Amino acid sequence: MADVSSECNIKVLCRFRPLNKSENLRGDKFIPTFQGTDTVIVGAKPYVFDRVFPANCTQEQVYNACAQQIVKDVLEGYNGTIFAYGQTSSGKTYTMEGKLHDPDGRGIIPRISEDIFNHIYTMDENLEFHIKVSYFEVYMDKIRDLLDVSKTNLAVHEDKNKVPFLKMFSVSDMNEHSSRSHSIFLINIKQEHVETEQKLCGKLYLVDLAGSEKVSKTGAEGSVLDEAKNINKSLSALGNVISALAEGTKTHVPYRDSKMTRILQDSLGGNCRTTMFICCSPSAFNDAETKSTLMFGQRAK
Ligand code: ADP
Ligand code: MG
Repeated sequence: MADVSSECNIKVLCRFRPLNKSENLRGDKFIPTFQGTDTVIVGAKPYVFDRVFPANCTQEQVYNACAQQIVKDVLEGYNGTIFAYGQTSSGKTYTMEGKLHDPDGRGIIPRISEDIFNHIYTMDENLEFHIKVSYFEVYMDKIRDLLDVSKTNLAVHEDKNKVPFLKMFSVSDMNEHSSRSHSIFLINIKQEHVETEQKLCGKLYLVDLAGSEKVSKTGAEGSVLDEAKNINKSLSALGNVISALAEGTKTHVPYRDSKMTRILQDSLGGNCRTTMFICCSPSAFNDAETKSTLMFGQRAK
């Protein structure tokens, strides 16, 4: 077993995307200014995080800054969670998934999967690894498998030298996840020493959260309103759990308040590695949502 310490390890990283085409066409103002590597100023107010990524940061820079240590920790038997929070179109999916077929555009999920296998390749030959990957979404507190209808876990194949590799799925084989659901990519790693039979387990949740934007009170009715309320409830439950963990003094962490936090319970807090990406639009048009997103991130500090 990994060393169990009560220390809670939460990192909050903030990423701004560039202005998009329609924002540029409309002539939207680019509102953030960046200071050093950890501060962004919006509306004259500085927000400090563990790290801030300006709009021109590459996928590789983001990956190197956040994920390498987590890969090592998960292979040492720690659990971890990386999640992306922000309004729809702020860059959550770009950060977590990215462009799967463009080597430079690949996000955290494909890079981390590859990195895990590369690490295993260099480890003690007497260690036997069992890796299971699942991909599912939580919508209205119900879980749906995002892989094909057979609902089986993603297979891990071995090449002719017995090196395991993950067959990256093609997007057309998957159910597309909506921005109104939370999507969760789970990598489960079990290792056993063939001689000593010593076992080690670690798992990593990679979560692309539902869009955090407020649905206008006047416009939404019926199922749209129910959906919005449900998203709101699950995101605030997550915020409450993270801030209770960050405070470190609370004996009660309200994991049971939503399906999401119940799922993530054994991979948030305790000796787990938790990283939260706060994703923001730089456009003046999204000013209010951006500030509320930044405040959500500050609660975890
Ligand atoms: P979300 O998942 O938060 O709804 P997306 O990740 O789909 O948002 O991003 C919205 C659009 O902006 C996509 O077309 C995406 O490719 C683009 N985008 C997001 N972040 C970046 C970035 N850092 N650099 C370039 N394009 C980005
Ligand atoms: Mg998305």
